Amino acid sequence: MSKKRIAIFGSTGSIGTQALDVIKANPELFSAEILTAQSNDQLLIKQALLFNPNVVVIGDEKKYGIVKEALARTDIKVFAGEKALAEAALMDCYDMMLAAIVGYAGLKPTLNAIELGKPIALANKETLVVAGDIVMQKAAEKRIPIIPVDSEHSAIFQCLVGETRNKIDKIVLTASGGPFLGKKPNFLVNVKKDHALQHPNWSMGAKITIDSATLMNKGLEMIEAKWLFNLAPHQVQVVIHPQSIIHSMVQFEDGSLKAQMGLPDMKLPIQYALAFPQRIANDFPRYDFKKPNTLTFEEPDIKTFRNLSLATDAMYKGGNVPCVLNAANEIAVYAFLRNRIGFLDMTEIVEQSMAKIAFIEKPTLQEYFETDAETRDFAASLVHM
Ligand code: NDP
Ligand code: MG
Repeated sequence: MSKKRIAIFGSTGSIGTQALDVIKANPELFSAEILTAQSNDQLLIKQALLFNPNVVVIGDEKKYGIVKEALARTDIKVFAGEKALAEAALMDCYDMMLAAIVGYAGLKPTLNAIELGKPIALANKETLVVAGDIVMQKAAEKRIPIIPVDSEHSAIFQCLVGETRNKIDKIVLTASGGPFLGKKPNFLVNVKKDHALQHPNWSMGAKITIDSATLMNKGLEMIEAKWLFNLAPHQVQVVIHPQSIIHSMVQFEDGSLKAQMGLPDMKLPIQYALAFPQRIANDFPRYDFKKPNTLTFEEPDIKTFRNLSLATDAMYKGGNVPCVLNAANEIAVYAFLRNRIGFLDMTEIVEQSMAKIAFIEKPTLQEYFETDAETRDFAASLVHM
């Protein structure tokens, strides 16, 4: 494999930093050519000095001077601002984009990378939730692969290698259930952010950790899977698997179920996406069959964790509804993280937004942008009530 030049959008986050660990461990295989952050100037500077990329971008324009000054003695190009961040994806100095920005903000840079014809390692699931039809169509036109980094989708992707001619009956997305598995609304109503940020199996960024606690994460992943694997909504099933060892499964026409397993460690799906189709050796901890282990499965409690049924509705309705679900959820999660609303209010905000925003059956990209903006305004008005 010749050396692959990686552009990491969101290099200072949980996925971004783990991707840099993978690159650091395999300097003969990968280099980091673009690094971006929103506001964490100090980590971005540290990463830039270590990896010597071509370009760094800091989203927060107020931090431009600090980053520029710190990298003055290097030949690294420094840019700042939202526009520069999206435009950096159009710079032809890399072979693959790792889309690791969190939320809707990841959509435009990813679309630009596709436009430039660059393969995508996709962590940013919101990109497909918001505009999956447009993103997948554009990728198909450009004949570039979108390789999932999300562990469930990586599992399915791995199960599908060599199965191109075989029909999928359904996919089974596993969910840990998060920190509040088995809890009921009378408990959840009092949950505070510090508790919700304690995920039992995975250490991740704040937004996805809250999404995991509300099960919205699994809802977003259903929609992500529908687009990635070109499935009908009824082919996507969710099962609770608290140990997070089976990362997801595919059932084929003949009833055979294929699963991908391993310890919960995002470095593996990150490395797999960067190196695909090659597998590379590593020293990550391994699953130990000598220890007493039990793998269990149960139905999700969608009466308590209503986000999962709202996301299922959005997936079935299609059009701009998943975009509404995502925008309302982003507003709700950040309001919860700022202690502005309670745990169960997040679901209320998403539900009310889905009822309020006008349905568009086949939105253009511009209409997705408008739906996102309109939903954010409406959801924010509910937070301020
Ligand atoms: P983090 O919050 O840890 O990191 C997010 C990254 O995006 C940071 O580099 C951050 O910069 C940057 N960022 C945040 N807001 C903006 C913005 N408005 N514009 C540009 N850049 C921005 O998130 P994670 O790494 O946990 O998640 C990233 C994506 O990957 C999410 O979509 C998530 O759903 C998905 N994912 C994550 C998994 C995980 O294990 N963490 C697992 C599966 C999927 P700064 O540091 O400066 O704020
Ligand atoms: Mg996942």
